[in-house]
Amino acid sequence: MTTQPQVVTRFAPSPTGHLHIGGARTAIFSWLLARKMGGRFVLRIEDTDRERSKQEYTDAILESMRWLGLDWDADPIYQSDRDDVYNKYIDQLLDEGKAYWCECTPEEVEAMREAARAAGDKPKYNGHCRARNLPAGEGRVVRFKAPVSGKTGWVDLVKGPLSFDNTELDDMIIRRSDGSPTYNLAVVVDDYEQKISHVLRGDDHVSNTPKQIMLYEALGFPVPKFGHVPMILGSDRKKLSKRHGALSVMEYEKMGYLPQALVNYLVRLGWSYGDQEIFELQELIEKFSTDGLSGSPAGFDPDKLQWLNAHYMKASADADLAALALPFVVRAGFDDASIDFLTKLVPLFKERAKDLPELAEAMRFMLVSDAGLAYDEAAVAKALTEEGRIHVAALRALFAGLESFTKDTTHDVMARYVEDNGLKFKAVGPPLRVALVGAMGGPNLPDVMEVLGKERTLARMDRAVTL
Ligand code: GLU
Repeated sequence: MTTQPQVVTRFAPSPTGHLHIGGARTAIFSWLLARKMGGRFVLRIEDTDRERSKQEYTDAILESMRWLGLDWDADPIYQSDRDDVYNKYIDQLLDEGKAYWCECTPEEVEAMREAARAAGDKPKYNGHCRARNLPAGEGRVVRFKAPVSGKTGWVDLVKGPLSFDNTELDDMIIRRSDGSPTYNLAVVVDDYEQKISHVLRGDDHVSNTPKQIMLYEALGFPVPKFGHVPMILGSDRKKLSKRHGALSVMEYEKMGYLPQALVNYLVRLGWSYGDQEIFELQELIEKFSTDGLSGSPAGFDPDKLQWLNAHYMKASADADLAALALPFVVRAGFDDASIDFLTKLVPLFKERAKDLPELAEAMRFMLVSDAGLAYDEAAVAKALTEEGRIHVAALRALFAGLESFTKDTTHDVMARYVEDNGLKFKAVGPPLRVALVGAMGGPNLPDVMEVLGKERTLARMDRAVTL
């Protein structure tokens, strides 16, 4: 019996900046495929550009991955640690006559390209050193001896069959004169050593794939499956930028988006399952398949992301939403807010807020001290009239007599008071609301009172009648 080879996918960011939504989306696809297939998901930090790569970006990318809930199955590998490994494979290619040392200078290569262009040909390295059998030497690079005829192709998981004429490609450099490997060589060696079975990445890499396949074949490695997802575009179908509201993952976190909302949004941007829009994470794992990946680019729509965020806020368990809201509540000035209190508060507000800062702001009147509650002047003038104050004082006396202070008991007291005195609710509701909330809006009053509790409710009413 043969066993199915294990599915192993990877995310291979270059730590030259924060994790952007395009990168996050390919990471999510790769993660989903591994989780769906019971496989492994690994990370590789492609930090060969030593000038631009920074540890702080690696840390930030990993932090963003954790925040999104994308866990990985082994310690990340760093390409900057692996020159020896790459050189071992480069030596193998040299020994087998599949690569050669080249001493052409960048200026000479540029002149070759210029000459090809002038002759109406594709600008390429002309193979000057290919048959010269040069030994290693100062300033020399190693080039791959690419096939000069035939085609290199693969069946892309997203784009279907793709094929390139080998004559299109030249003898690429695989080892620079400073001894470092080039991107294509390092990726192939690492994907092989990390046993990657499926490479999902952005379609800006399509032109690298035939070069990489040639290297796999020359090195005798099995070729993984490739899927290239189209770039995310702006809502105007132009290249995505900040102007379209596209930010790094970390900025969405800071703006108070929920990770599930961003994951759901990004997955749907390029993948579909019928016309379903909302997917819990577990459901995504069950339903994900590369068959649903779309070959045409999707446009980024910040409104839809916000809509999903509002959905996930409503759908969150109160304790979870309280934990997510806590840093925003602290930032709004309430350093000592407790999770227990927030857990009681959030259900009153979560239906209406579309992000966490908005939620924190909406809860402000509940978080301030009773003495610190700000009263809106216009609302006071409108509702806390002489008559309004009489109702507030009368209700205060009735509430004070309640043994059990719940939303039902306070509701009943108010209903009876209105009825016994032949009043309309709108004579009583607004003054009480302004007394407790400081303004005209806000949640249902019995809910507000239950969360405030008897003592704080009475304190606010006492204060209101003296304004
Ligand atoms: N490091 C490459 C990038 O950030 C990804 C390479 C790959 O996925 O093969 O674009």
